[in-house]
Order: sequence, then C-alpha cells, then structure tokens
Amino acid sequence: MNSSYRCFKTTVLLLCSLPLSVGGCECGGNKLAGRTEAPTPTAKPSQPERSKEPLIKKAEIVDWCPEHGVPESICTRCNASLIAEFKKKGDWCSRHGLPESQCFDCHPDLKTKFEAMAPKKDKP
Ligand SMILES: [Zn+2]
Ligand SMILES: [Zn+2]
Repeated sequence: MNSSYRCFKTTVLLLCSLPLSVGGCECGGNKLAGRTEAPTPTAKPSQPERSKEPLIKKAEIVDWCPEHGVPESICTRCNASLIAEFKKKGDWCSRHGLPESQCFDCHPDLKTKFEAMAPKKDKP
C-alpha cells in the first residue's frame, strides 16, 4: 500500500518537475503546490437582451415631405416608383421631371396651395 502510494507520488512529482527542470532546478523538492488548476469560471456570454426602447419617440407621422414641399405619399422625388403612376395619368411635366400637379415652376400657384397643406411647425 505504501509503495503504491509512493509510486504515485513520484509520478506526480516527475510530471510536475518536468517544466521546472528545464529551468535548472532539479532538486526542487516537493513543490506540488505550484499547480493549482483553478477551473476558470466560464463567463456566460448570453446575457438577456433588453428590449431596446426607442430613445426618441416617433412623432406623429405626417404625410408630408418638408424637403420638397409636397405630401410624402405623392413625392416622386422621394418615391420614384410613383413617377409611373403620374405619367400614366398624364400628370407629368417632363421638362422639370415632376408631376404637373407638383411642378411649382410651371404652376407657381401650386406652391401656395401646397404651402397651405403643409403641417404647421411649432414655432417658439
Ligand atoms: Zn420628397
Ligand atoms: Zn414643369
């Protein structure tokens, strides 16, 4: 029993002293404490994702393109797919690439009309 235990210990010592012997210290003795294999805590990467709350609440959706001064739903400059619709209806100014009904250049009075339609901005 004793002998088997010693044998085991020797084996462990040998294994443990192997990397040490490279350093030149062969008579290190019973330095078994050097190898403490602490189980590395496996960090859990999966964190419960919080539902992202929008920082900016969407303002009421206004059907208006402030850039072009026309309702967004008929703004051909923002939605090119609308162009075909207007062309089909014959409502198209090829000179300005705009629906005739939105061409302020040809119909300056339209501008005031659309301006009246524009949602009023809150002025301080
Ligand atoms: Zn637009
Ligand atoms: Zn025009």
